[in-house]
Amino acid sequence: MSNSTQNRRQFIKTSGKAGMAIAAMPIFSNIATNSFDITAYQQHPLPYAYNALEPFIDAMTMEIHYTKHAATYATNLKDACVAEKVDTTQLAFTDLIKNISRYSPKMRNNAGGHYNHELFWQLMKPAPATAPSGTLADAITKTFGSFDAFKTAFGDAAKTRFGSGWAWLVLKKEGGLAICSTPNQDNPLMDIAEVKGFPLVGLDVWEHAYYLKYQNKRPDYITNWWNLVNWEFVQKRFDEATH
Ligand code: MN
Repeated sequence: MSNSTQNRRQFIKTSGKAGMAIAAMPIFSNIATNSFDITAYQQHPLPYAYNALEPFIDAMTMEIHYTKHAATYATNLKDACVAEKVDTTQLAFTDLIKNISRYSPKMRNNAGGHYNHELFWQLMKPAPATAPSGTLADAITKTFGSFDAFKTAFGDAAKTRFGSGWAWLVLKKEGGLAICSTPNQDNPLMDIAEVKGFPLVGLDVWEHAYYLKYQNKRPDYITNWWNLVNWEFVQKRFDEATH
């Protein structure tokens, strides 16, 4: 059994309490082969109630987003794995994502959709948000000048992503932080991504993520979203990936 499979199994075994298993994850030293694996082939329970992120994201949006949109990605991923003969007991989910060019467009859209949403739920927590601290804060300041400058640049990437997609803070494959965005359900782990690396922060800018409350006002959704970012979780991802 490969390390990554073992780690994934360990995660599945201990992930009954939503996000609580993350603290028990092993430390990895090489993000190229052993990324910090929060995801599995199936949906984990949402780590908070549908209304927990109000007033910034409303309960109806969360419920539809989690039980309809995200659940459909997970179901379609399962179907694609059967059709394309992926042995999900042997291949770690992140390894599939990293080699996504080998699979169909259906696999790309739904594996990406599933990964991105599983990450997105964990990246949020009920307000108020704290600011990053420690090594992550240092890296952000060093790369972008200040936390505010980072938020502005990230917000610009999110606002200017035409149509549906995601904005990302990425730990680049060659090291260092970068901001980028991807179309549809692509993400920076994928071998087809323009900017490749380990996603630390991802913001869903599909209309389904904000339309009920914000309608066409994507910039207001983006501004308000900072109230929900779980920086302790982001710091953990950063620590694991840079250890
Ligand atoms: Mn979404």
